[in-house]
Amino acid sequence: MALDGTFKCFNHDFSTSEPADWQKHMGDKEHHYTGEAECVTCGERVKLDWKGKLHNKLSPNILCKGCREQ
Ligand SMILES: [Zn+2]
Ligand SMILES: [Zn+2]
Repeated sequence: MALDGTFKCFNHDFSTSEPADWQKHMGDKEHHYTGEAECVTCGERVKLDWKGKLHNKLSPNILCKGCREQ
């Protein structure tokens, strides 16, 4: 996502070199995240399929099935 210090979003044709502006974009618009991520609680690898707006963070809070059901 970050090339030469530039943040680019192809979904919204948006780019900036300012992390603060990028953070704002992530909070303003919905984005779809897929792939793999670590559960924030236990660190287990989980499949990521998340869509939404991020507020004050750069990735969604991921919980594995076990932690989510606690
Ligand atoms: Zn975007
Ligand atoms: Zn977990």
